[in-house]
Amino acid sequence: MIVDRTIEPKNGMLPLEIVLATRNPKKVEELRRMFVGNEIIFLDLNAFPGSPEVEENGSTFEENADLKSRAIAGYTQRHALADDSGLVVDALDGAPGVRSARFAGPGATDAQNLHWLLATLKEKGGVGHRARFECALSLCDPWGQIERFSGVVHGVIVGEPRGANGFGYDPVFVPDGERLTFAQMSAGEKDRISHRGRALEALAKRLSKRLPKGLI
Ligand code: IMP
Repeated sequence: MIVDRTIEPKNGMLPLEIVLATRNPKKVEELRRMFVGNEIIFLDLNAFPGSPEVEENGSTFEENADLKSRAIAGYTQRHALADDSGLVVDALDGAPGVRSARFAGPGATDAQNLHWLLATLKEKGGVGHRARFECALSLCDPWGQIERFSGVVHGVIVGEPRGANGFGYDPVFVPDGERLTFAQMSAGEKDRISHRGRALEALAKRLSKRLPKGLI
């Protein structure tokens, strides 16, 4: 079983265990990184080899996040946290949106999706297209009760990829008020302003209220 670290019970209570309902290692890394210092045990799906593959057939980020968190909480009988996120481009009527991970087709790589996005925007003409990243977090308890948290970051799409950090569309997204793409920023800089960072901040606030004092 993979855990962040071992935590002793405090005040006679065990810390909250949360299963991260994603198979994207980059997302697991970001989620864990942002909770360093909090007394929560994050388990990943490698700890549950038989866990179901969830079809993301919702029409919104929220629906997809709920589908994943509910399925994994049901299977693992623990709290499950799911993230559904993506890029929304105004000039493309909101595409790639919920299809961000498969914009260039089923099984497409990040590089293929990025290339497809730039080619599609080139056809449209113009530069500096307005876009935003959205993140929907869904926390489902073992009884099926869901709480949602969200985050958004607005910015523009640049014509050429820049930077090697991060993942997905990071190399072409410059957040408002910044000069660098997400892929040119350090992990900490991205977390501070990203859609996922903001959603996780809301989640962290909520968890600090729910848990007995001293646990997080
Ligand atoms: P999901 O796994 O269905 O939520 O798909 C998320 C997809 O949206 C990823 O594969 C990326 O293409 C894109 N995406 C989501 N968050 C980010 C981010 O922080 N940076 C870059 N791309 C992202």
